[in-house]
Amino acid sequence: MNERKFEGKGAIVTGATRGIGKAAAIELAKRGCGVAFNYASSAEAAGKIKAEIEGHGVKCFAAACDVADTDATAEFVKQAKEELGSIDYLINNAGITRDTLILRMKEEDWDAVIDTNLKGAWNFSKAALRPMMRNENGGVILNISSISGVVGMLGQSNYSASKAGMNGLTKALAKEVASRNITVNALALGMVATDMTDEMNEDFRNKILEQIPLGRFAEPGEVAEIICFLLSDSAKYITGQVIQADGGLAM
Ligand code: NAP
Repeated sequence: MNERKFEGKGAIVTGATRGIGKAAAIELAKRGCGVAFNYASSAEAAGKIKAEIEGHGVKCFAAACDVADTDATAEFVKQAKEELGSIDYLINNAGITRDTLILRMKEEDWDAVIDTNLKGAWNFSKAALRPMMRNENGGVILNISSISGVVGMLGQSNYSASKAGMNGLTKALAKEVASRNITVNALALGMVATDMTDEMNEDFRNKILEQIPLGRFAEPGEVAEIICFLLSDSAKYITGQVIQADGGLAM
């Protein structure tokens, strides 16, 4: 992998105060990439992560910004560009679950998940594309999706729909921006050990574990490695794809 590519570049990682986003932001900083990240409410964690990123000798911009808010998103990207110099990578990672069977699901649970997971990725892609198009070497958008959007999951009508929507967004956008040397892919994850999966009840967790051929959840750090590969020059001929990293869960 051409790791030097990241030096002097700028990445936006949405939702990087915990879990996968945090691991990706820190891994990118280790590789010399400036990082801008947002979050919903974890201001204290954001301050610590910003300090850790800057400790790797790269620039960092962090701010609260609801990904579902189109105006706030545009303003965040504008400031990120000013702070980092260029936006070369966008990782649409911020996401939530509000799981329950459809007959019990409230309209607000549907709206919150679709607005955060799907509209959030659209908002950030729209705002980041203009500065990316001005780059000499284009850029990469990576949407953090889920196998739930590929196979559908019980109790996740909102989440599965949001991630399937994200997969469609990925393909449409890949076609729109390929001529500008911008690639767009989705990384459809299986089970990753984060706060999101900590919420699962023990029985459900064990049932899922039995179905994962590799027999374990992924760690955020190993997902960050996959993310860096997909952003790297080694992956520059891949676009419009939904790439599964799920320990074999959905095959
Ligand atoms: P997590 O640990 O729950 O962290 C979620 C992050 O998103 C936090 O930084 C949170 O900020 C931020 N966020 C949530 N809503 C936001 C909003 N409206 N605006 C801005 N930021 C917001 O999640 P994770 O498990 O790392 O998941 C990251 C991504 O991977 C999600 O898109 C998820 O769907 C996807 N994924 C996860 C798994 C898994 O097993 N964990 C599997 C497949 C796909 P605060 O800290 O301020 O709340």
